[in-house]
Amino acid sequence: MSVTELSRQSEKLENTFWRAAKWVESTALHYIENCISCGLCYEACPLYHIDPRYAPATVAEWFRRFYRRYCTVIGRLLGKLAHAYPVTLENLLRARDYVYRCTNCGICYLVCAAGIDSGYLATLTKIMIREAGLAPRALLKLEQMELEGTYRTKKVQELYSSLIDELKKVTGREVPVADPDKTFLIPISVFDLVFGRDAVIGTVKILEKLNYSWTIPREPVGIRPPIAYTTSSWDLAAAKIREVYELARILRTKALLFIDCGYPYEVYRFEGPYIAEIEQPKVLSIVELLEDEFEQGRLFLRRTTDVVTWHDPCMLMRRSGVEPPEKLLDAAALYGRPKRYGKYATCCGAGSHMTFLIPEITQKLEEVLETPLTQELEKDRTTKQLIETAHKIAERRARELADSGANNIITACYSCIEMLKLAYKKIGLPEIQVKHISTFISERLT
Ligand code: SF4
Ligand code: SF4
Repeated sequence: MSVTELSRQSEKLENTFWRAAKWVESTALHYIENCISCGLCYEACPLYHIDPRYAPATVAEWFRRFYRRYCTVIGRLLGKLAHAYPVTLENLLRARDYVYRCTNCGICYLVCAAGIDSGYLATLTKIMIREAGLAPRALLKLEQMELEGTYRTKKVQELYSSLIDELKKVTGREVPVADPDKTFLIPISVFDLVFGRDAVIGTVKILEKLNYSWTIPREPVGIRPPIAYTTSSWDLAAAKIREVYELARILRTKALLFIDCGYPYEVYRFEGPYIAEIEQPKVLSIVELLEDEFEQGRLFLRRTTDVVTWHDPCMLMRRSGVEPPEKLLDAAALYGRPKRYGKYATCCGAGSHMTFLIPEITQKLEEVLETPLTQELEKDRTTKQLIETAHKIAERRARELADSGANNIITACYSCIEMLKLAYKKIGLPEIQVKHISTFISERLT
């Protein structure tokens, strides 16, 4: 490479840092500057239990290293002696091994006495990795399809039509598609069609029982929008956030109702207005609605003698503050509380981008999206290691939940459901069922 080419490449790489630095405001600055290396977050982090090299402070340290190099005098002068690293391809590849393991579960933030969100610093490093063209290719492919609308394949359309036919049977009337002035708009995605069909049907049964009006979009709103959020391409995610908010506004719906309570709910509920800089409609998760209806005495259930437990999706409980629906589950079955629950529940390993890297999940997606995805995963050695970590995290959580004595695990995020199902198969407990709360509650309606 000539000197001019080398200098251009180094400028390009340095620019990846400045693109990420755009998102460093006062809170992020606190995360960068105030870690005292006390190690309190280590024990809580699911990654640390699988391999102690990947503790929260070390995951977050990558962004700090780059920050010191470009934003502090001592880092500029002393370089590595001051733990300041330049952005090079080699350093970004090393950083990728750390930050792409982080599921952004948020437990390190919860236990840190200084209130440091290491997951957030990992997401900033992910901006740099994506800008340098080093993000996993399967993930970039999905992001692109969602943004360009090419996810609306023939198979996706067939699945949507068949869901509408099923809903017609359930309700005994025409399905309200893009009907204005309804209480709830359910933003159906490809994920709902592939992994949450029963949950959507269950939700509609519940809404009908409670006499709520509802509608669905003319076509799925994305693969699992905004996928760009999981690669930290927040500028691109903003477009998808605006699109869904705008749909709710045009239809004059009272609230967007999320069945998939993984990152889609958290992003549209809390981060959407910040990322997309637009006024937000009311956003609700199905768990909040069910808990509220139960507490108001409007939801009547037949109790089963099955033992159930609840798995808190990180994005629903820790990142959004939605409490475990324990009273509701106790009214529907024999509820057993797991050892770690609520704020302290352990991650299932499939958070953020990780879902899209799990071959069993991408295989199902590639069938309906009619595009090769798993072969992209196979080409990438680092991705294989990430997947192994995610499966080990899932197995640990699956065992914890099974220890509650439950034969039914109830949760509300499609990633958690798929990941725990795979874990139970792997650890030889296939008899344990993992269900979405809408499916479970709809079966118990009187
Ligand atoms: S967000 Fe979760 S996975 Fe990431 S570093 Fe913190 S505890 Fe570990
Ligand atoms: S608990 Fe907080 S201060 Fe302590 S090592 Fe972890 S991030 Fe740093």
